[in-house]
Amino acid sequence: MSRFLEVTDVPGAIATAVRIAPDPVPEEIPAGEAPGRVLCADVTAGSDIPGFDRSIVDGYAVRAEDTAGAGESVPVLLRLTGRVSMGEPERGLAVAPGTCVYVPTGGVLPARAEAVVMVEQTDMAGDTVLVKRPVVHGENVLLHDEDYRRGATILTKGRRISPRDAGVLAACGQAAVAVAKKPVIGIFSTGNELVPVTATPGPGQVRDANASMLAAWLDGYGCIPRYYGIVRDERESFEAALSKALPECDVILLSGGSSKDDRDMTAGVIAGKGEVLVHGVTIAPGKPTIIGRIGKTPVFGLPGHPASALVVLLIIVRPLLAHMLGEEKPALITTKAVLASNIVSQKGREEYVRVKLADGIAHPLFGKAGLLNTLVESDGLVRVLAGEEGLEQGSIVEVILW
Ligand code: AMP
Ligand code: MG
Repeated sequence: MSRFLEVTDVPGAIATAVRIAPDPVPEEIPAGEAPGRVLCADVTAGSDIPGFDRSIVDGYAVRAEDTAGAGESVPVLLRLTGRVSMGEPERGLAVAPGTCVYVPTGGVLPARAEAVVMVEQTDMAGDTVLVKRPVVHGENVLLHDEDYRRGATILTKGRRISPRDAGVLAACGQAAVAVAKKPVIGIFSTGNELVPVTATPGPGQVRDANASMLAAWLDGYGCIPRYYGIVRDERESFEAALSKALPECDVILLSGGSSKDDRDMTAGVIAGKGEVLVHGVTIAPGKPTIIGRIGKTPVFGLPGHPASALVVLLIIVRPLLAHMLGEEKPALITTKAVLASNIVSQKGREEYVRVKLADGIAHPLFGKAGLLNTLVESDGLVRVLAGEEGLEQGSIVEVILW
């Protein structure tokens, strides 16, 4: 690693990644399938929603002034003149002075009704309703354009659609929405020591962990991972694999072989076919990171250690993917916690320390590089910025949940 002469800091690496990111490509999909996808255009209301004045309780539609002074012991008496049925127009059931009309929750408010008295605040005597509490104008009523006025923005471009949004889209009559196409991300695992998950490793061999982990994360982020298998540390193998993947992918991720040792092929192969823009980032873990481009396709060399590969995916590749999806607020999900012990960090590099969360306390998991168990044990990462030498026990830290 001593051969990294020109390293890039994390903000610089992210800026390079975002600069080479292809723009979002819109496609129209059914709104029911849209959760998890990112909107390419604002969605506006085609009509007023709910579209008619409606009651939000089971009760009696009244003129507000008729209920003035009503109380438990001195109820106001109103004559019941009709009942509104669900899902039907109010059929001329206007509320005249001194009368009321029964309306179920969600029922259409009759003409000239100003408010609804909840059934619970009334008694019945024949066709007379005893109102025991006054209501003010508008009480228990949802106006025809109170949720959304025709033309109002319901969801803004760049928003990742939630299951809640899908419900609102349906209620507003949006059967289809324009979202960013899922980018296809090619995944290669490189190294002579790697064997597939189904194999029993011989001496010196390890199973390919990165492909499964990267693919799972990419799938969850709204991309299509495409696995191209294990590539041996030979230039010809790299070139053959890249030639196959380049026309099929929007971005390519190679893990392993990204350092500056003679056996590390990634940088040389990218340089031969395109350009290497960054080789070495002041991030820990993850220093041997490559950002390159072949034609217009971004190609990343991720470090081989699984934890390092995931940190670089999250911190440096994710902003590029967010740009490709047009995501407006691509923030990492974080939570605040109290640091259980000191973290010492080398100045000049941005460090990501794995932590386990318990009852609002973040416990750093210090372990040797390459350990897999901290991937399982940790809930997230605490960032120590390049300018800092560490973080103190007891301080409030932001934990990036991964
Ligand atoms: P490299 O970045 O190629 O120098 O690899 C660094 C370390 O990560 C070595 O111990 C590799 O065996 C390990 N490694 C590389 N790729 C993978 C992978 N796909 N799955 C698990 N470990 C890997
Ligand atoms: Mg290797």
